[in-house]
Amino acid sequence: MGEFCDLCPRRCHARRPVSGTFGEKIPGVCGVPQNPVVARAGLHFWEEPVISGTRGAGTVFFSGCNLRCVFCQNYGISTGGSGIEVTPERLREIYFELIGRGAHNIDLVTPQHFSDAVLTSLEGELPVPVVYNTNGYDAVDTLQRFEGKIQIYLPDFKYFDNALAFRYSGVKDYRERAAEAVMEMFRQTGPYEIGPDGLLKKGVVIRHLLLPGHVADTIQVIHFVAEHFKPGDIMFSLMRQYMPFGRVSETEFPELNRRVTYREYCRVKAALLDSSITDGYFQGGGASRAEFIPVFDGTGVEAPQGAAQI
Ligand code: SF4
Repeated sequence: MGEFCDLCPRRCHARRPVSGTFGEKIPGVCGVPQNPVVARAGLHFWEEPVISGTRGAGTVFFSGCNLRCVFCQNYGISTGGSGIEVTPERLREIYFELIGRGAHNIDLVTPQHFSDAVLTSLEGELPVPVVYNTNGYDAVDTLQRFEGKIQIYLPDFKYFDNALAFRYSGVKDYRERAAEAVMEMFRQTGPYEIGPDGLLKKGVVIRHLLLPGHVADTIQVIHFVAEHFKPGDIMFSLMRQYMPFGRVSETEFPELNRRVTYREYCRVKAALLDSSITDGYFQGGGASRAEFIPVFDGTGVEAPQGAAQI
């Protein structure tokens, strides 16, 4: 990344230390050193069925994030406040440990701010697809460095209205950057492909989380996707799992301090069915439950006892 970090659309130009103790004030919005900081690595069963399959996605949750979503359900790690620092070599070991446990793929959650180390960890093909799981606020030049190393992109498209993006995530150009990013992702993967085992081999799955009170914005996201992709190009995943988390309370962001209503969900589902989008998922009503959120306690990050330490 050079001396100053411009890896993501924030373009902080921050001098991030190679290594850092948590609690230090690390420059840059993502708030983490250059070395990867991992909060949890394990089999994860709550991605889309074409990714989780029956044995789970091999998920690596990175700490730190370039957005500041007020409703973040992973607030403890997105602000860089927890996790274990690892080398690229240990990261690659983790991939093989997860594959040894049956992981269908390696699912890298918010890897962008650790791009250099993650790219090193991906030198040499893995025997399973690699998933780049992201909030959608991605820089095209950084994504281009991953070409050929990522088989599946799993980006959010959180907002169409940049005023909402600014209020809830602290960025003024989310729509433009997310739009560029999904186009670049699709350029790299081409149309999605599902193998005979029912699992995604390559492609892009665009996720959108319906927020309470913001049906109109969700419908604009649906229209954007429908206008830019034809059936068979990408999959679209409409999520209704929203629960008030993070900074959302009666006093701060009170409009978000409730779940999505059934009526709101039915309106966006109708818009989706009415659109030209034919491939993807609706999330069922039981999805908004706190037990689906993993515990970020460093599970699976440190080398097992007896294994060679790097
Ligand atoms: S990766 Fe972090 S430091 Fe670098 S530009 Fe993005 S938010 Fe800023």
